[in-house]
Amino acid sequence: MICKKIKNPFIVLCILFFLNFLSCPRTEASRAEFALGTVCSITLFEQGQSDIYREIFNRLREIENRMSVNIPSSDISRVNAAAGIEPVKVHEDVFRVLERSVHFARLSDGAFDPSVGPVVSLWGIGKDNQRVPAQPEIDEVLPLVNWRDIELDARSGSVFLGKVGMALDLGSIAKGYAADEAAAIIKRAGIKRAIVDLGGNIVVCGEKKDKSPWKVGLQNPGGKRGEYAGIIMANEKTVVTSGVYERYFEQDGFRYHHIFSPSRGYPADTGILSATIITANSMDADALSTAVFVLGCEKGLSLIKSIPETEAVLIMEDKSIIATSAADFILTDKTFYYKK
Ligand code: ADP
Ligand code: MG
Repeated sequence: MICKKIKNPFIVLCILFFLNFLSCPRTEASRAEFALGTVCSITLFEQGQSDIYREIFNRLREIENRMSVNIPSSDISRVNAAAGIEPVKVHEDVFRVLERSVHFARLSDGAFDPSVGPVVSLWGIGKDNQRVPAQPEIDEVLPLVNWRDIELDARSGSVFLGKVGMALDLGSIAKGYAADEAAAIIKRAGIKRAIVDLGGNIVVCGEKKDKSPWKVGLQNPGGKRGEYAGIIMANEKTVVTSGVYERYFEQDGFRYHHIFSPSRGYPADTGILSATIITANSMDADALSTAVFVLGCEKGLSLIKSIPETEAVLIMEDKSIIATSAADFILTDKTFYYKK
C-alpha cells in the first residue's frame, strides 16, 4: 500500500538497506593503527565488530596517555618532573606496571631497570638528537639510574623518585601491559579467536578452528621485516621479542641500539641479537625479554628457567639459536643453527 504512494519503491528499499547497514555492527577482519609509538594491529576472527576494535584502541591510547614519556601530561612525565621533590599520585594502571617493573628489576638484579630514563634521553636513539655521548656525560647520569630509589606507596597510590634528575621510562613494559589489556577486552567480549600485535608484542587468543597451534614468526635480526629465522608455536600465549633491530643508529661501523645496560649506560652488548619470551602474561614477557637481552645468554636463561611456564628463544651473533627445553620452535632459515 505504502509503495503505491511512493514514486520509486526501489529507492526506498535502497535507503532502508543503507540505514540498516549503518545501524548494524559491521565486521572487519583486522585493524591497524599507530599507538604506543608503534603500529598496533588487532585481528578479531569471526566477530570483528567495529565497536570492539574502537574499545581496544581507546584503551591502548588511554594507557599511552598515562605512561608515555613523550606526553608531558602523562603520569610518568609528572612523576619525572617531581623527581627528588615530592611524591605524585598516579593512576592504578601506572602503579600496577611500576610494581611489576620493580619486581623484575629485583629479579634481574637491575638488568631490567625502569629508572633507565636519563640514559635513554642522553643517547636519544631514534630521535633527531641521537648520538654517542662522551664518557663523562654517561658517568654523570649513571648514579641517577637505580630502581631502589623508586618509592611506591600502595596506600596513597603515589610514586616518588629519590633523586633530582631521576626519570622513569616504561618503554620496555608498557606495550606488554597494553597487550594484556587488549586481550582482556577480547575475552570479555566472548571472542574466541584473535591476535593482538603491538609492534611485535604478540598475544594469541584462543585456538584455531582445526585446533592446531598458532604460528608466530621469529624475525631474522639481520633480515628485512617479516623475514623469519623460524617459527614459534603457541596457544593462549604471548610471544615478545627484544631485538637490536628495533631502534638503532650506526656510526663508525658500530650499531648502537635502544636496549641499555643500566650499569654501564651503553647499549647492552652480550652477543644476543634478539631475546624472545613465551609465557602467559605479556607484561611479564616484555620486562623479561629486555632483562634477558641485558643479562646475556647464560644468566638470562637461568633466570627464565627459574620462572614456571616461561620459555625463551635467543638468537645469538654467532648465528646460533638457543631455546629453553619446552619452547616449541622450528628453525626455517638454515643459515642459523639451533641448539635446545
Ligand atoms: P621494544 O621497545 O623494541 O619492544 P624493549 O621491550 O626491549 O624493546 O624496550 C626497549 C625500551 O625500553 C627502550 O627504548 C627504552 O625506552 C627502555 N629500556 C632500555 N633499556 C632498558 C633496561 N635495561 N631496562 C628497562 N628499560 C629499558
Ligand atoms: Mg621489553
